[in-house]
Amino acid sequence: MTNQDISNIFREIAQILELRGDNPFRIRAYERAARNIDDLAEKLENISARGELTTIAGVGSDLARKIEEIISKGSLKYYEELKKTTPKGIFLMFQIPGLGPKKIKLFYDKLKIDSVEKLEKSARAGSLSKLEGIKSKTESNILRGIDIFKKSKERILINLALDIAGEFVSKMKGIKEIERLELAGSLRRRKETIKDIDILAISDKPSLVMDKFSKLSLVEQVIAKGVSKASVIAKRSNVQVDLRVLERKSFGSAWLYFTGSKEFNIKLRGLAAKRGYKINEYGVFSAAEGVGVEKSLAGRSEEQIFSLLDMAYIPPELREDRGEIEAALANKLPKLIELANIKGDLHAHSDYSDGENSIEEMAQAAKKLGYEYIGIADHSQSLKIAKGLSVERLYKKIEEIKKIDKKISAIKVLCGSEVDILADGSLDYPDKVLKELDFVIAAIHGGFKQSKAQLTRRIVSACKNKYVSMIAHPTGMLWGVRDAYELDFDEVFRAAKAQNVALEINCHPHRLDLNDIYAMRAREAGVKFCLNADAHIIESLDFMELGLGVARRSWLTKKDVVNCMKLEQLSEWLKK
Ligand SMILES: [Zn+2]
Ligand SMILES: [Zn+2]
Repeated sequence: MTNQDISNIFREIAQILELRGDNPFRIRAYERAARNIDDLAEKLENISARGELTTIAGVGSDLARKIEEIISKGSLKYYEELKKTTPKGIFLMFQIPGLGPKKIKLFYDKLKIDSVEKLEKSARAGSLSKLEGIKSKTESNILRGIDIFKKSKERILINLALDIAGEFVSKMKGIKEIERLELAGSLRRRKETIKDIDILAISDKPSLVMDKFSKLSLVEQVIAKGVSKASVIAKRSNVQVDLRVLERKSFGSAWLYFTGSKEFNIKLRGLAAKRGYKINEYGVFSAAEGVGVEKSLAGRSEEQIFSLLDMAYIPPELREDRGEIEAALANKLPKLIELANIKGDLHAHSDYSDGENSIEEMAQAAKKLGYEYIGIADHSQSLKIAKGLSVERLYKKIEEIKKIDKKISAIKVLCGSEVDILADGSLDYPDKVLKELDFVIAAIHGGFKQSKAQLTRRIVSACKNKYVSMIAHPTGMLWGVRDAYELDFDEVFRAAKAQNVALEINCHPHRLDLNDIYAMRAREAGVKFCLNADAHIIESLDFMELGLGVARRSWLTKKDVVNCMKLEQLSEWLKK
């Protein structure tokens, strides 16, 4: 049982209770526990073994008992009983953005709709809007929600893919015939979302490895099993996992080939051909030699191949044919940012707004990560659903942070705020309040349906406020919930550069916003960045690593990222 299996059970319990019109507090309790379990970095089994389940925010003794039952028995009786009352397809309907339990219940009761397919059909046929209280606009919203839902089912998020891949790798380490094990594909390139997981292994006994791999307990179904390649469907998320077993002498060329991207491989192949080489997954060969007499000139390692082609080693995150091959030939690749360059995080929530941990707990956790500073940025007053802070509470928080900062050594606790950019482009606190903060990170949390020009104007005017240092999650994209809103990026980048405002790369896996495409463009426009985990619970501070993948894919160096500055320099920059 993985953490996600358990959180899914709690989420489905909440959904069934919703459909039954049960006590809202009970429903919220299950939802909250599910969310916090998703954010845990450690396995529940380990936490349970230490008897510390109730230390997880939102997990009381009752839920702790239920988690223990799931871990020990593999199921939960209460859930199994509840589940009998609800058709399976209903749970998927809950994942459609914008569709709540009331409508789901209505459609089920009146039209017997119990699957996404039936819902889509009815919406297209216009039969939903024949029901009382349902407008045709609701139908088009539902169809748009179904589109986003379907998209989110085709690929999985990078953190989940890394997690599943990690489970496979750790189980496969127990296969003694395997000499080396590496991840390839888009996962190695750290794309934000992943279609399937590619694993490469070196072994002299491929068929034995194939057998053992396809029998792993993580495997739901074997799709194909050959001499040196197997494809399986993992139990978790039904994601496809491919394993290829290779010989030592061609491992580098295979790793290069199966890491991709396709565009990168095509470009590299063309370059090799111009130099009289043939390059494929088995090695690099002289194009002049005939079939059958080919002798591999390089292939053991990627480094060997790049060097044969007279180019610098290209980090996997850059392999997208966006100029990296040309840069490697000219020895002009950037020195990409690394995790060790990050000196702090400037967007963490506390229990003052919608976070789960106290300011002090957040600060201690950041200190453990070796950060020099942590910026606590809770929501501002208008964002009521996220418990945004009134001016009075904000002042109280400023005082509290001063005390905590004195108390905890070796880390600076900065008091900031994630301030809403309101519909008219003004900020959610007046300047005389903003002035009292160490920093302001401005964000759009509503009014997404405004025109491109209006949304652009809002961000540009936020940049122009002299207290604003950063713009949080600049495009508002939320995976499985909503697409990015439209912006005139050239205008946004111009304003950010002119006002010396950093654009955030929000590292939360559901956001990863800016993405690599926009961040690359922003970098070319001379904009600075800030990598923030947007943690609402201490465990999520680790999301930094996911955003780091985006930053590397965007060619960023530590000079491009403001939270690579040491505290002293950062404080100077924040004062500007
Ligand atoms: Zn936000
Ligand atoms: Zn936030």
